[in-house]
Amino acid sequence: MKPFFTLLLLAFALPRYTQAQITDPKATEVWEPEPRVVTPGEGRKAPSDAIVLFDGTNFNEWLAAKDSSAVKWDLNRDSSATVKPGAGDIFTKRSFGDCQLHVEFRTPAVVAGESQNRGNSGIFLQSRYEVQVLDSYQNRTYSNGQAGSTYKQSIPLVNACRPPGVWQTYDILYTAPRFNADNLLVAPGRVTVIQNGVVVQLDTELKGPTTYIGLPQYKAHGKAPLKLQDHDCLVSYRNIWIREL
Ligand code: MG
Repeated sequence: MKPFFTLLLLAFALPRYTQAQITDPKATEVWEPEPRVVTPGEGRKAPSDAIVLFDGTNFNEWLAAKDSSAVKWDLNRDSSATVKPGAGDIFTKRSFGDCQLHVEFRTPAVVAGESQNRGNSGIFLQSRYEVQVLDSYQNRTYSNGQAGSTYKQSIPLVNACRPPGVWQTYDILYTAPRFNADNLLVAPGRVTVIQNGVVVQLDTELKGPTTYIGLPQYKAHGKAPLKLQDHDCLVSYRNIWIREL
């Protein structure tokens, strides 16, 4: 066959063949598996499949991180808890890996200190990777240490802070790092952070555990508790829930 006719045939035959595959809309419908039903939260109510870590009434899901004793942070009448400076970090009794996390926090209404000493706390995913909590409302500090940063690693896309004394939200999507059987890193952790409805971290790669001095370096680990930081500031928390993914 002459090349011209070969091309002509192909020009008609190929599209028709491809088209034949997609003419039936049902051919591309996938029915199984069917996603299970989750009743969404409303207001401050968590989604139906979430683990409520803190609803303001008790610290049943938490322990002091330094010695696993009872939490000594203050429980408040407005269903919140406030860091007790010197009492130390607190962490969850349960361990988590990939998750969706909702946290509400409030930096002190009475502004004291500046830079890193104003409303500092932190949310440590798997006890290691800090999403910074700070009063970054008209309070300049190093950009990779302000609210919404992954501390000393990634600058938030924008500053979406509310003023001191006002409740704020973090909605965090977290993919834990993967390690192989030889404890070598095969995929770094990743995090998306939405602060007050504004994306501040989008699928950000975690470079390793948060370090104050020096460069982060991964070390293999499995599921681990969520940790909240005592940084000697009167930061309050309320309505904390988590969905394992
Ligand atoms: Mg901090």
